[in-house]
Amino acid sequence: MAKVSQEMGNPYLSRSKICLMKREEDFEANLSGEEGTTEETKTSWFKRIKKGILTSTAEKKETPEGLWTKCPSCNYICTVTELRENLFVCPKDGHHHRIGSSEYFEILFNDNRYDILFENIRSKDFLHFTDLKSYGKRLEETWNKTDITDSIRIGAGQVREHHMIVACMDFEFIGGSLGSVMGERIARAVDYCLQHRAPLMIICKSGGARMMESAFSLMQLAKVSAKLSQLTDARIPYISLLTDPSFGGISASFGMLGDLNIAEPGALIGFAGPRVIRETIKKDLPEGFQRSEFLLEHGFLDFIVNRKELKHKIATVLSLLKN
Ligand SMILES: [Zn+2]
Repeated sequence: MAKVSQEMGNPYLSRSKICLMKREEDFEANLSGEEGTTEETKTSWFKRIKKGILTSTAEKKETPEGLWTKCPSCNYICTVTELRENLFVCPKDGHHHRIGSSEYFEILFNDNRYDILFENIRSKDFLHFTDLKSYGKRLEETWNKTDITDSIRIGAGQVREHHMIVACMDFEFIGGSLGSVMGERIARAVDYCLQHRAPLMIICKSGGARMMESAFSLMQLAKVSAKLSQLTDARIPYISLLTDPSFGGISASFGMLGDLNIAEPGALIGFAGPRVIRETIKKDLPEGFQRSEFLLEHGFLDFIVNRKELKHKIATVLSLLKN
C-alpha cells in the first residue's frame, strides 16, 4: 500500500496507470470485505461480508468425474451414458466424438462378440531413441496407463452376415502413431483375410508416423501397401474408414488405398496440418479445408457415413460386392 501511494505521488506516472492501480486496490478491498473507495465499488450489488472462502473441503458438493460431458463443438452438456447410447455422436449437432477401438468393435460386431488377434506383438526400442524421455520408458508408461498393447487392434467377428476383420487404431496410444507393430499386425491381418477369404476394414485415427522408430516406421507404409495388393489380387475387398484425425503417412498411403475410402462427418483428414500449409504457401486456406465434406467434394472420398449408419452401410456394401 505504501508503495502504491508513493508511486501515486510520482509525477512521472501516467494518469491512466494511477486510475488502474486505484481500481485494482478497490477490487482487492471488495474481495476482502472492506469498503471500496470509488463510487463504482461502493454501490456494488454483491458484497463479500466475510473474508476468504470458508467452505471446508468435506462440505463441498462435487460431481463425480466422468459423469457429465461437454460437446467440444456446440458445448451441449449431457451424461456419458446418454452419449454412449447415441454412439458418441452429439445429440444436438451430430458432432462425432473421438472414440477408441473397443467402442468401434462394439458398434460393428454382432452382440459385441469378436476375437482380438496378434496381441503378442509388442513394440521394442531398437534404436534407443530418447526425446523428452526414452522410447522404452514411454512405452512402459503407456502400457501401464491403458489396457491396449499398441496403436492398432485387430478384431475378427461377424458384422451382420459377413465374417470380417476390423483393424482399428487407438489415438490414446502415442497418438495412434504408425510403428513397426502396427505394420506387422496389419500384415498378419491381411494373411488372415486371405486364409479365410474375409474382407478387411482399417479404421484410421492417427497423427502419422512414430518418430521414435524413424525409418522403421516409414518402411511400414511400403510393407502394408504391398500386403494390401495381395488382397486386390485375391479379389477380397478392403475398406478404409478415415476418422478424426487421420494425418501424415497413413493418409498418404494405405488410408487412401481402399476399394472404398470413406469417412466420418467433419473428420480432419490430411497430410500436413493446416497451419504448416498456410505458412508454406503464404495464402489463406478455403473454409472447411481438410474436413471430410471438403474431401468428398474434391473426389478423395467415396462417401461420408454417420456412425449410427456405419454397421448397416458396411454390411450393405459387402453384400453388393459379393454379388
Ligand atoms: Zn454438439
